[in-house]
Amino acid sequence: MRKKTKFIHGGISRDPYTGAVSTPIYQVSTYKQDGVGNFKYEYSRTGNPTREALEKLIADIEEGTHGFAFSSGMAAITAAIQLFSAGDHVIATDDVYGGTFRVMTKVLNRFNIDVTFVDTSNLDAVKEAIQPNTKAIYVETPTNPLLKITDLKSISKIAKEHQLTFIVDNTFSTPYWQNPLTLGADIVVHSATKYLGGHSDVVAGLIVVKDEKLAEDIHFIQNSTGGILGPQDSWLLMRGIKTLGVRMEEIEQNTKKIVEFLQNHPQVEKVYYPGLETHPGHEIHRSQSAGFGGMISFTVESQEKALDVLKKTRYFTLAESLGAVESLISIPSLMTHASIPRERRLELGIEDGLIRISVGIEDIEDLLEDLESALR
Ligand SMILES: *Cc1c(COP(=O)(O)O)cnc(C)c1O
Repeated sequence: MRKKTKFIHGGISRDPYTGAVSTPIYQVSTYKQDGVGNFKYEYSRTGNPTREALEKLIADIEEGTHGFAFSSGMAAITAAIQLFSAGDHVIATDDVYGGTFRVMTKVLNRFNIDVTFVDTSNLDAVKEAIQPNTKAIYVETPTNPLLKITDLKSISKIAKEHQLTFIVDNTFSTPYWQNPLTLGADIVVHSATKYLGGHSDVVAGLIVVKDEKLAEDIHFIQNSTGGILGPQDSWLLMRGIKTLGVRMEEIEQNTKKIVEFLQNHPQVEKVYYPGLETHPGHEIHRSQSAGFGGMISFTVESQEKALDVLKKTRYFTLAESLGAVESLISIPSLMTHASIPRERRLELGIEDGLIRISVGIEDIEDLLEDLESALR
C-alpha cells in the first residue's frame, strides 16, 4: 500500500461490528463480560475500540507495529521518558520543543532522570555527552524555529553501539515525509495536535514502536498513568489523518513559493528552510525525508518590524501551534521561546526580529499578497 492509500485504508478501515466505513465513536467506559475474565475489551483506559483503530492506523503509517494514543503530545513524550528510572541519563536536542524542555528540566528531573541538551546535528557532541548511565537519545528534526537537521541514521548507529533507546519527535515532518523507525529509531513520538489532526480542533499525542517488548512497556505506562486519548478525539484524529497526504502536498507547494518570495524581498534578511541548498542540513534532510514541510522562519530588521508584520497579516493568523489548514504566524522571541533568557536565545540564533510561519492550504496568491502588504 502506498502512503495516501494507507492513510485511508490502513489500521482498521471498517468497523468489524457494523461494517461502518468510518470507525464509530465508542463512547463507553466499561464492557459486559461473558464470564469473569472473558472479554474483548475490559475498561476504556486499558483499551477502547475507537482509540484502538487510531493506534493501529498510526502504527501502520509510521512503519511500526504498535501505536499508542495520548491526551496530548506532552503526555506521549512524558510516557516515553517514563520508560527510564531514577539515576538514568538522557541526551536531548538542545532546541527541543519548549514543553519538552520544561517537562525534562522541571518535572522529570525531580524523579532523578537527568537530561543533557546538546546540538544533535553535531555527532561528536552527542558522543561526548554519553555517560555510563545514559539510556536514551531524544531527537527532534527539523527543530523549532530554526529548522536544524539531525542525521537520524548516524544517531541510530551511535545509539546501537551504546545500547541506547533512540527516540524521535516526528511532529514537524509527519509520517508522510519521514519515517524515523525505518532509519533506526526505536520510538517515534508525535504531537498529533499539529499536522496529523491538521484542523486546529484536537489536542493529541502518539507513540509508535516496532519492538514487542517496548510496546508492552509503553502500554503498561499508558494504562498505569492513564493519559489516554478519548474516543471522540481519536475519531477526529483519524478523520484528520485521511487527508494528511493531500494537505502535505499542497502545503509543500505553497511553502516553496513563499520561500522564493521571502528570499527576494528587500525587507527580509535571512530565511530558514531546509529545502534551501544553502541550509546547512539540506543534504541530510533530503537523504532521510521526502519533503521539506511547511515551516519557514525569517528575520526582519527588528522586533518592532516583526510586530508590525504580525499586526497587518489577514490570512496568516497570529497564534501558537502549527501544522493546520490555516496559515499561522508568530514571533518566537515573544511567544514560544519567551521563557528562554534573551542572551541564550541569541546564542541559539533566535533573533528578536525572527518570524515563524506555518504554511496552510489557502490559495497561494492570497498568501503572497498578504505577506507583501504586511511587509511593505
Ligand atoms: C506542539 C509540540 C509538542 C507538544 O504537543 P502538545 O500536543 O501541544 O502537547 C511536542 N513536540 C513538538 C515538536 C511540538 O510542536
